[in-house]
Amino acid sequence: MNKLILRLTILLVFIIQNLKGQQIFTKNIMLMGSDFEITIVDNDQANAENMINIAIEEISRIEKLISSWDKNSQTSLININAGVKPVKIDLELFELISRSIKVSNLSQGAFDISYASMDKVWYFDRKMTEFPSIEQIKKSVSKIGYKNIVLNKEDSTVFLKLKGMKIGFGAIGKGYAADRAKEILKKNNVKSGIINASGDLTAWGLKPSGKDWMVAIVNPINKNKVFSWLPIKNRSIVTSGNYEKFINLDGKKYSHIIDPRTGYPSEGILSVTIITDKAELADALATSVFVLGVDIGLNMINQLNGVDCIIIDNNNKIIKSRNIEINDV
Ligand code: ADP
Ligand code: MG
Repeated sequence: MNKLILRLTILLVFIIQNLKGQQIFTKNIMLMGSDFEITIVDNDQANAENMINIAIEEISRIEKLISSWDKNSQTSLININAGVKPVKIDLELFELISRSIKVSNLSQGAFDISYASMDKVWYFDRKMTEFPSIEQIKKSVSKIGYKNIVLNKEDSTVFLKLKGMKIGFGAIGKGYAADRAKEILKKNNVKSGIINASGDLTAWGLKPSGKDWMVAIVNPINKNKVFSWLPIKNRSIVTSGNYEKFINLDGKKYSHIIDPRTGYPSEGILSVTIITDKAELADALATSVFVLGVDIGLNMINQLNGVDCIIIDNNNKIIKSRNIEINDV
């Protein structure tokens, strides 16, 4: 008898837990050549797995559209026809390119999807003992220039004016994919989750405990050391900066991010974190600020509504934008 009651009690507890039991489900997966971590809150494992698969399909779909490696993608078609003819593309890609050009205008060319046309003259993965020549550096960026991306809305076409010109979405695509994965999950009634595309992160809803999702801002020099935890409420947070990849030349430290306007690596910044609604914009702005440097970058962010930024400079100093709401960073 006692055993039966015990069993019934256990069963009851189990049922109640499952009725209310919101749990966190997480999947790590390689997509778009990067580690993605998809986290959702659900009370049913099978449903959670379905939902996570929907997000994966959406990210894979976007990858097919924007990949520069896939020779059959619409992006590759645009690149192959550079200097030849306009290419008709899906509205989705057309709009992504339009928004990219808006960020180019905003950042005075610091952000530029035609960055992909650059010749490689700087090597960050091996020892460089001397500078490339001024001519080499100049030539390396000669095909870059967002003003040579011609959009025709009526025909939904894109034309790259110069032969050899290319576009690529390395600095905006992961953010876009994270936004889209979030949107499709929200449409499917997933109330809460985080899409983390290798540090390009967007969150919505609350944790099962009813609290906000928290995101760590880490010390770029020592990734195990957390500067601060930020609550992320229906927002996105993107950090740009690769601290392992830099070169020392003539006693100066150069980052792996190159200014597309000059061909020289940007200086002065170790990492940029941007916090705003859309991961896509955060992604593009993080790269922009990196290129623009502390003063001009901060000035740009301070003029934008709803965009916050945390910069860590070469001296490990933390610089925050005007409106940032957190005090403890
Ligand atoms: P990560 O996401 O790896 O931290 P970024 O978001 O800065 O780095 O993006 C790096 C990618 O963006 C590279 O693929 C590079 O081709 C591209 N990229 C680098 N600088 C720029 C720039 N100024 N404008 C547009 N794209 C860029
Ligand atoms: Mg980026």
